[in-house]
Amino acid sequence: MNFQKTIKSEISCTGIGLHSGRKVNMTILPAGVDEGIAFVRTDLPERNCIKADFQNVRNTVLATTIGTNGTSVSTVEHLMSAFCGMGIDNAVVEVNAPEVPIMDGSALPFVNLIKEAGTEVQGKHRKLMVIEREVSVSEGDGYAMLLPWPEFKISYKIDFKHRLIGQQPYRLTFSSSAYEKEICAARTFGFLKDVEYLQAKGLALGGSLKNAIVLDDDRILNKEGLRCPDEFVKHKILDAIGDLSLVGMPIIGHLIAYKSGHRLNNLLLRELLAHQECWKIVDASFREKSTEEFDSTTIPSFGAIRAVMA
Ligand SMILES: [Zn+2]
Repeated sequence: MNFQKTIKSEISCTGIGLHSGRKVNMTILPAGVDEGIAFVRTDLPERNCIKADFQNVRNTVLATTIGTNGTSVSTVEHLMSAFCGMGIDNAVVEVNAPEVPIMDGSALPFVNLIKEAGTEVQGKHRKLMVIEREVSVSEGDGYAMLLPWPEFKISYKIDFKHRLIGQQPYRLTFSSSAYEKEICAARTFGFLKDVEYLQAKGLALGGSLKNAIVLDDDRILNKEGLRCPDEFVKHKILDAIGDLSLVGMPIIGHLIAYKSGHRLNNLLLRELLAHQECWKIVDASFREKSTEEFDSTTIPSFGAIRAVMA
């Protein structure tokens, strides 16, 4: 866990683009230490690297789009989640379209690709973003906050009026095995009336029952049903892991989120980085020695933790 990792060999897949509905080829290649995750559009004449960084997030409607110098790649969040979930720090992602393929709407196909490629431990320690003080953002009745905690932990609650979703809380202490077992297979979801509206406007043309759970007013339209009863909140955690990974290193802290989404998750990172007193960056080898010294009495906002998990 302390050393940076990349994938062992190049690996490719083909899928459908959520926006365009067209075929997309994607290749993931190994990358050197400290290079992070970068996206390259091979359909453009110039090879322009877009770094997976929260400051490069250009749009969070429908999916997360990152861009620099007039080039962008959309729908990066589930792949980013898979990289974080599987502990991949450095990789180059080539796509021959403006978007990453949506696959089955979860991160499972990407996790399988990474496992097929194999991972390689690199000769340099990771950096970790350790949360030292509470930082929070809110919008409407939704909020997201990061609190000091000795490991990466997520407490998330969704609240939808739909009777098949309602309130779902879920708590995850992050590890690659917990991510693989509990989170990565949870699919994205949407409501039929929204899908119809978007497609009438020429958006989400690739969206279908093959890559999302779709609900009408009182039922789930997918014949196979849900993969697990709390698939909805688990997908939101999958998204949050991908969104927060855009800080560029693993976070050591507790994310508490209520009705959050890509936009609020991105605002949380911007708020965090704007408050230097709330975090410090440490070498992963340093953390090995300091974990036991963590003083749980300094954790603020236990009321907030109880509120979201009630
Ligand atoms: Zn998602």
